[in-house]
Parts: sequence; structure tokens; C-alpha cells
Amino acid sequence: MQSDLGHTMKRRNTLIASATILSAAASGVVSRPPGDEALLTAARQRDGDTEISTESESILPGTVHETTLYERVATRDGPTAMVFGGIHGDERTGIEVAQEVVDWKPDTGTLVIVPKTNRVATDENVRAGPEGDLNRHFPADSEPTSDLARGIWDAVQRYEPDVVLDLHRSLGIVGIHEEYVGQAVYHSADAAGDELAAYLNDVAVPWHMPFHRISAHRTHSGGPLLFQKAIREVGATAYLFETTDFLLDQNARNEFTRLATAKTLALHGLLEVDRNQ
Ligand SMILES: [Zn+2]
Repeated sequence: MQSDLGHTMKRRNTLIASATILSAAASGVVSRPPGDEALLTAARQRDGDTEISTESESILPGTVHETTLYERVATRDGPTAMVFGGIHGDERTGIEVAQEVVDWKPDTGTLVIVPKTNRVATDENVRAGPEGDLNRHFPADSEPTSDLARGIWDAVQRYEPDVVLDLHRSLGIVGIHEEYVGQAVYHSADAAGDELAAYLNDVAVPWHMPFHRISAHRTHSGGPLLFQKAIREVGATAYLFETTDFLLDQNARNEFTRLATAKTLALHGLLEVDRNQ
């Protein structure tokens, strides 16, 4: 808006400087923001000798949509969590972090990961595949409306996850840029969305980047998104996390998404953090 231009430009310059600092922090050059090494160590390593194996299977084998699902089972019983990346194929941060999570070691329960949910779209680095926007294919009043959506939903029904986390990124920031939904966690009524947002604001968002603070938004369960169908039909506690392209580089986006994923798993007991190490 013309009348707001001066204010906008000033804010943008401030954010560019801030983004540079955040990027440096994500690559370990400066020590602020502090991040959370204890949590990420808990995700990547594990007490005891028992190695956790990775099982994998193909979703929709032999079709154009064929993609890999990975399963990590802890030695102790616990909840089942499913993590999805690449429902939108050009949102690289979710794909890259979900691929990292394949090597994470849950302390309890079962961790199921689909890094390239819409594999055709991820291969082409585009939002939607040949059947359109996958995250609109799970309407309340019918079966999933595409072959890929049906294949993904079959996997969800088999695992009946307690927790679902769907990883995305937006171009802008919710509440600041009209129509964009970044730097936000959308969650079911029973989820710890407020706690997750507060945690990320504490450890990942520098004080001088107030526009990048994460907000929590309770979702309704009647919509056509995968996580909404998981809420209403398998009773999952579900989260959809959105970071942003706006003034964040890939390292910073990945760090937000990585911490959001690890914290979600910790909040639901799959990861146990030793703060004394
Ligand atoms: Zn998306």
C-alpha cells in the first residue's frame, strides 16, 4: 500500500539484517538464538545399545506416484506419530527435514515418515502434481478424490497414528501478508499448539525478529486437508507447521522446521530429553 511504503521499507531493511543474523545462527556462526542442542541430540542419538532399524515400504508401488514410507520402532511402547513432507512438492524444507527424521531414534513408540508424499511434484519441484493440489483431496463428505490421496490415506488408516505432523512453508507470514500462512502452527483442539509455538519463539526466533514469531491456530476438522481428515477419522492429534520464505534462507527454514518436528515428538513422548547432559 502506497501510504504505508515508508514504514514497510524500514521494516523490511530491519528484517533483512535480522535474517542474516538468524542464518548465521542456524549455521553455528553466532550463538544467538540458542537453539536446542539437547533436543536435537535426543532426536539423533539414543541411550543404550539397541540399534533401531528402519523398515521401509512403497506407497502405490508400480504407479507414477510410488513413494517411500519409513518406519522406526522404539524398543519401548508408545504412541505412533506420522510425519509428512512434500505434500506440496516445491516446499523443500519439509522434504529435507522429513528425510533427516528417517534417521532419528524415537525413545518410545513408532515413528512413520513419508518425506516425498507427492513424489511427482517433489521431483519436478512444483507445488501440485498431475492430479492437482494433494492437500485439497481429503474432503469430509467423500473418499479421497485422487489416486495419490487414496494411497496416502490407506497408509494412515493402517497406522492409525496418535499424532500427525504435516510440514509446509509459505511465501509470507500469517497476519502480515494477506493470503499467506507462514510462521504458524495449525493444530487440532487436543494438540499442544500453544506450547509448541511458545517453545519455538523461545529457542528459535531472535528477539529482533518479532514478525517471525510463530503463532498457533486451532483448526476445524471439516476441511479437505490431510491433517484435518486424520483428526476427524482416526482421531489423531494433528499439526500442520508452516515456516516461510520471507527473509529466511534454507538453513533458517530447516532449523525452524527441524525444531518444530523434534518438539512435537517430545511433547507426545516419542523423544525424551536429558537436560543435564
Ligand atoms: Zn504447503
